[in-house]
Amino acid sequence: MNVHDKYKPLTLWERTYLPRICDGLVVTMRHFFRNLWHFTLARFGVEREWKGAATYQYPEVRRPLYPRLRTLHRLTKREDGTPRCVACMMCETVCPAKCIYIVAGERPEKEIEKYPVKFDIDLGICVFCGYCVEACPEDAIRMDTGILEFSSYTRNGMILTKEMLLSFEPHPEYYTERKDLELTKKLAAHPPEEEARVLCINFFAL
Ligand code: SF4
Ligand code: SF4
Repeated sequence: MNVHDKYKPLTLWERTYLPRICDGLVVTMRHFFRNLWHFTLARFGVEREWKGAATYQYPEVRRPLYPRLRTLHRLTKREDGTPRCVACMMCETVCPAKCIYIVAGERPEKEIEKYPVKFDIDLGICVFCGYCVEACPEDAIRMDTGILEFSSYTRNGMILTKEMLLSFEPHPEYYTERKDLELTKKLAAHPPEEEARVLCINFFAL
């Protein structure tokens, strides 16, 4: 099929959308009966190791956060509580959505010349690409708060101010030991010549 074929006029049968609805139902029912079968076997003591489809009882139970997951931004602070940001504008420049607005001010110290008087992020247009974090030369902005739910009735309500960004704390799950990161620990514990073997073991264990 070439790219133009998909723009062919739909037949009368296709315009009823029944074929696509049936396809969707077949996929759903296949998963439903497959899971039902395995859960039944597990209930009678067979296939105890089979994990099956997991449903998280959100919001009471949440999925573990992965360290690479990008969540709501925060601005990091120095020991004296001032923002680490030196208003270099790198994040504002690199941001593909142009949703960072910084106004720089001057600091009296010679070694830290500037600071952000204003630092706003418009979450309404942020695409959570993480480029701002990557571009920052001061490790002044991170996306490790673990906050995934945010909403507002107005567009202005989606703007995070400097004070809000400084008030957020890192989510503890990003920096604690996790069972699902055993591979990292194993690699650290093995000398380089054993690295390939450990990788193989973990690959087949997945
Ligand atoms: S995550 Fe991406 S889109 Fe959002 S503020 Fe940072 S650079 Fe801009
Ligand atoms: S957050 Fe980092 S990249 Fe952005 S202005 Fe501040 S120091 Fe520069």
